[in-house]
Amino acid sequence: MSSPLTQTVHWDLTYDVHLGSTWGRFMQGLREQKILANSCPECSRTFVPPQAYCESCFVRTEQWTELPAEGDLEVFTVVWQGFTGGPKPPYAVGGIRLAGADTLLMHVVTGLDFSDPSTVRDQLPHGSRVRAVWAEDRTGQILDISHFEPAG
Ligand SMILES: [Zn+2]
Repeated sequence: MSSPLTQTVHWDLTYDVHLGSTWGRFMQGLREQKILANSCPECSRTFVPPQAYCESCFVRTEQWTELPAEGDLEVFTVVWQGFTGGPKPPYAVGGIRLAGADTLLMHVVTGLDFSDPSTVRDQLPHGSRVRAVWAEDRTGQILDISHFEPAG
């Protein structure tokens, strides 16, 4: 007799996450329509979302700066199957390099026509300019940026 290798588990949890000072400051900035980044004092890389430490230099990040709410779309993927609590598919999630950042901010990107999947890739070529669209009601969370849209 063999043992089962899988079993069905249902999770439906609501819980509070302690953001800490770095993420707390970032989320407060979003509430005020500011995208805050921080930088490493050793290698000068600028992180958004911010990081408490530079993972390369093993030092605390210290200097904070506000980045423009606009950048280059470096990569995106299309979500065809929905997740509980997520947007209605299809939708795109992209990695956006805000001007002055050394990391990518992941967020929903709009402005794509999904009716013919074979054309989606070319609609927003690598480096396309996108800008943040702010949510009307902001509560200090990542969806204070509603989404990014093509900027030009
Ligand atoms: Zn560093």
